[in-house]
Amino acid sequence: MEKKINIAIDGFSSCGKSTLAKDLAKALAYIYIDSGAMYRAVTLFFLQNSIDFNNSDQVEDALEKILLEIKHTESGFRMILNGMDVTEQIVRIEVSQSVSEVAAISAVRKKLVEIQQKLGEQKGVVMDGRDIGTVVFPHAEVKIFVTANVEIRAQRRYDELERRGMPARIETVKENLKHRDHIDSTRADSPLTQASDALLLDNSYMSREEQLFVAKKIVEEKLR
Ligand code: C5P
Repeated sequence: MEKKINIAIDGFSSCGKSTLAKDLAKALAYIYIDSGAMYRAVTLFFLQNSIDFNNSDQVEDALEKILLEIKHTESGFRMILNGMDVTEQIVRIEVSQSVSEVAAISAVRKKLVEIQQKLGEQKGVVMDGRDIGTVVFPHAEVKIFVTANVEIRAQRRYDELERRGMPARIETVKENLKHRDHIDSTRADSPLTQASDALLLDNSYMSREEQLFVAKKIVEEKLR
């Protein structure tokens, strides 16, 4: 049987890491997992139930009521929160505006990292996020840290929201990216940082095909 590995893709907000992770998973016939969707689903639940993020009892209690499931359908990765498909809802700006605060809560991270590590036990997983190469899969065979210039990232996010029929102002989108990058990089628990053994990929001026080509080369070398 062909050797399977885990691939960790981390990086700043909207740098194209999920596109790369999805493309790579498809090319390798691996499973794609969007760890950010899990933090977003928890955030959606907290917002819907008016949970005070600073109240640890409320947070613990809410976490016990959350069941997260992942589905892979024709339309790709789907995030299921307590039996409801929330894949579209969780990309809304309201969720984006609170998700980094929620993701900084250790109790939230503990629950999600446990689920993510279970999903990787069988190998053959491409997971994207902020702490995949450092915390979730510290022994991942391939680690890629993706980055791109902030103007380009804001434009990509803006275009994606437009495409999904959720238009927002470009300034709002850019501010949100910067805000999330700041919180994600400075939080005490598992801050966003490039793992010492991760390869840096700046895709500011790369096409989707080019970044996939580079990543596939890295994986092929590892599998050889
Ligand atoms: O990847 P995405 O931008 O959808 O992630 C949303 C937020 O979830 C990030 O800004 C970050 O705060 C949090 N996150 C995290 N750790 C991960 C994935 C996402 O803290 N592994």
